[in-house]
Amino acid sequence: MERIRLADGLTFSRLIHGCWRLADWGYSREQLLSLIEFCLERGITTFDHADIYGNYTCESRFGEALALKPSLRARIEIVTKCGIKLPSKYGMKLYDTSKNHIIASVEQSLRHFHTDYIDVLLIHRPDPFMNPEEVAEAFLQLKQDGKVRYFGVSNFKRSHWDMLQSYLPFPLVTNQIEVSAYRLENFEDGTLDLCLEKRVPPMVWSPLAGGAVFSANDERAVRLRGALEQVREELGAETIDEVLYAWLLVHPARMMPIVGSGKRERIERAVRALSLPLSREQWFAILQSSMGHDVP
Ligand code: NAP
Repeated sequence: MERIRLADGLTFSRLIHGCWRLADWGYSREQLLSLIEFCLERGITTFDHADIYGNYTCESRFGEALALKPSLRARIEIVTKCGIKLPSKYGMKLYDTSKNHIIASVEQSLRHFHTDYIDVLLIHRPDPFMNPEEVAEAFLQLKQDGKVRYFGVSNFKRSHWDMLQSYLPFPLVTNQIEVSAYRLENFEDGTLDLCLEKRVPPMVWSPLAGGAVFSANDERAVRLRGALEQVREELGAETIDEVLYAWLLVHPARMMPIVGSGKRERIERAVRALSLPLSREQWFAILQSSMGHDVP
């Protein structure tokens, strides 16, 4: 599988596997290990996590599976996030990007994953109470201690990115943002332009709009399904999932879709999408079906 270069010494697999819903899959540690190996056999080596996923349980489930075969650690890239605190543990939802919290969260992640380093740490969301000097201090300390190799952000708009970057002595390596043919906000507000301008390949969350493309009954979803079905037929693809992934993959921003399903056949569809030759005309047909009008 194609690899995307994010920095000197760091590449990700073009497709990433997302572990947000891992607690819902009901896999034993052996089954989860088998799923990780299934991904690796297909070239998916990058796994996306966050401290809070599964109410703070997904990292440790994944780590327990990895502990069954520790040699796998060197073959994968672990991405995790911090900065959100959930009500179940803290009484109310809030953001915390203080130095102490960032470092404590990483140390907890390391214990959960049974590893001594995280490949990339992301700040999960822009924090209206962020002190960027503290974030920079935390990042530097974690890097110097060898606990985190690289740093990035998630859901950052241009102003958040520029502000935080201005405090850091090294470049942020990615911005993890929501993009799909159903949800176009990051196209429309310039966030994808930011990624192109900075030469930063974005990690793309909810590439199938969290399943809404298949289930929603609003006008956009209905129109979109029609266009996707037409393009699927033209390309001879098996499912519209493949067309949705291909729509992201052919875009020049070098988007890295995060596959959110734990089902093997759905992961395979994402892999097949890598070789779908979606044309410019088909790309625009899908965009315009989502927008409900021609491009201006
Ligand atoms: P997604 O791939 O857009 O959605 C996955 C959901 O769609 C699952 O519930 C899946 O069900 C369902 N689905 C997939 N194919 C389907 C089909 N053909 N028909 C009906 N339903 C289908 O991705 P996501 O899970 O929302 O997000 C992917 C990853 O992005 C997450 O795991 C996480 O790592 C990351 N993420 C990050 C943020 C952030 O703020 N940074 C936010 C959200 C997510 P099954 O599970 O049954 O297959």
